[in-house]
Amino acid sequence: MGPLLPGSDHIRLVRPVTASAAGGSVVPLPGVRAGVFLLPSSPAVLIDCGMRGQGRRVLSAVAAAGVAPSDIALIALTHWHIDHVGALSSIRGRTGAEVAAHRADAPIIAGLVPPTKPELRGESGKFARWMLLKLYRPSNVDRIVEDGDELPHGLRVVATPGHTPGHVCYYLEESGIVFVGDALFHRDARLQLPPGGFSHDSGLARRSLAALRSLRFDQCYFGHGEPMLDRADMIVHDFLDRLLDSEEDAPAPDGVSLRGSS
Ligand SMILES: [Zn+2]
Ligand SMILES: [Zn+2]
Repeated sequence: MGPLLPGSDHIRLVRPVTASAAGGSVVPLPGVRAGVFLLPSSPAVLIDCGMRGQGRRVLSAVAAAGVAPSDIALIALTHWHIDHVGALSSIRGRTGAEVAAHRADAPIIAGLVPPTKPELRGESGKFARWMLLKLYRPSNVDRIVEDGDELPHGLRVVATPGHTPGHVCYYLEESGIVFVGDALFHRDARLQLPPGGFSHDSGLARRSLAALRSLRFDQCYFGHGEPMLDRADMIVHDFLDRLLDSEEDAPAPDGVSLRGSS
């Protein structure tokens, strides 16, 4: 059974989906591993889908959490990247759920326009291009969302473009929970910007994080990294203060250590 996270009575973490589980020996490149989250109370909502080939596994975890796949009414996507939408067509087919995505990413998810190509070099670039372009299987988007839109559960759309043109976070104000997708990474006890090579516009990705500054939340769930479950906004806001108040033209830091910060 999926663990019921402390401090929350209505969210369960679906087992993270990893590319290595899907396809054998895959180098753990940034962006390969992505969290999938379930809001189990009716109507159930899934946030992101994981890699292609992981649809059955995600739905097994959903069932283990006590939710019938057919009860999932909505799949809310943070952005089009393969580690977040790869299993979409499979999960959509098995649940009949509506799919929501931002206007700017929806045509890519639906296969109407080719994916944006981040600038990538070397072997990791070759692998990433293959992963981003070849593993992708389009799926319909039923519901186009924009900044400020409200979805079931009071899930509010917070546009954070840059990582992809239509990247969004999802915010549950009443519960004090935010899902940040790939707007922020949480690795090695550090908050980080997504790796530049994977982002459509790193400068915009950085600036658009300002949208999180006005949100109050206890819990923050990342596409990549362990969730923060207590007063997460203090940590995130502190990071953003340092990031966004630094000189505008300065290169984005790789990460700001959370250790020793207060
Ligand atoms: Zn990702
Ligand atoms: Zn991404």
